[in-house]
Amino acid sequence: MKQIFQNIIEKYDPLTDFRVLANLGISLVGFIFLTPFAVYNLLLAHYFLGLGAMLLVLISLFIIISILLNKYRKIIPFITFTPTVIIIVNMLIVKQGIIGILWSYPVIISIYFMLTEKKAWLANFILLVTAIPQIFLNIEPFIAVRASATMACVSVCSAIFIRIILYQQNLLKKRALIDPLTKLYNRNILDITLEQAVAQSQRTKTQVSLLAIDIDHFKKINDTKGHDAGDMVLRGLGVFLKSQIKRKADKAFRTGGEEFLLMLYGTDKNKAKIFAETLRAKIENQSFIPGFSVKASIGVAALKKDENINEWLKRCDENLYLAKKQGRNRVIG
Ligand code: GH3
Ligand code: MG
Ligand code: MG
Repeated sequence: MKQIFQNIIEKYDPLTDFRVLANLGISLVGFIFLTPFAVYNLLLAHYFLGLGAMLLVLISLFIIISILLNKYRKIIPFITFTPTVIIIVNMLIVKQGIIGILWSYPVIISIYFMLTEKKAWLANFILLVTAIPQIFLNIEPFIAVRASATMACVSVCSAIFIRIILYQQNLLKKRALIDPLTKLYNRNILDITLEQAVAQSQRTKTQVSLLAIDIDHFKKINDTKGHDAGDMVLRGLGVFLKSQIKRKADKAFRTGGEEFLLMLYGTDKNKAKIFAETLRAKIENQSFIPGFSVKASIGVAALKKDENINEWLKRCDENLYLAKKQGRNRVIG
């Protein structure tokens, strides 16, 4: 079971979108608890309850299978689960009064956890504007006012909680994956980014290249100008590297103290070497700190057919090592 969850987390988003797990959890609960309920009601010829529950069982099963088969899309719960539960809650209010209102509470909360934020607002808006008139038509006004108020209250509270969770999730993602000094990605996201790039490159037959960049004699900057000046160079180089990669699929990482890695998607070996040479020259001509010329060595490696990320990274590092060995301030690829 733990392994299944681990696989799901890895398959969907390295940063784990909690909604995939929420969809899985809620669908599992729905499937386990609603199946006997659906069968029991169908056997008793309570067709509305029986068929409604059976429909939810099938939707739950569909969501579970789509997640396990790696075919899950965010739109799935919006077009399957959401309209079904809105109709069922409305019909329950008409047929069973207060019982329908009680079921609306878990439905509202589930919608907020299963759908993306704007779709959840929309779904809850539709639920409230359809259910509240039914409440007033079918239940005495004294209860109807209170029931509508509590439904609206659960909806607003859920929206607030989800907003807080999303805010925190984004903040944690940033803290976990972004290097605070250079604002580039850090090592934590390197492996998964490269793995995704390798898989996509092999599937779409697209070239992808790596540039390992290491500042030459960086220690000298620290020793002669001070650690703060060294930090200023690193910060400046971070901003500079980010400005040089224009495509969304290209990524810049700080992989170590004064070591950086660029992943250029859709770039073959020749183009990557030309890019690296331009980059090297630009770094040399940039003024990161007054009165000091910063130079860098660059190793280039384009992904080979059937190569894994460790072999690819190793080749890139070996080229960087050669660049250092051959006198620094050069590109080897
Ligand atoms: P080479 O040309 O062979 O690459 O020599 P180098 O001096 O650039 O490389 P070396 O690996 O010998 O030294 C890297 C230095 O980077 C050592 C370390 O103190 C410094 N460093 C690592 N992280 C930081 C940082 O965040 N800020 C500053 N200012 N210095 C750092
Ligand atoms: Mg260095
Ligand atoms: Mg180094």
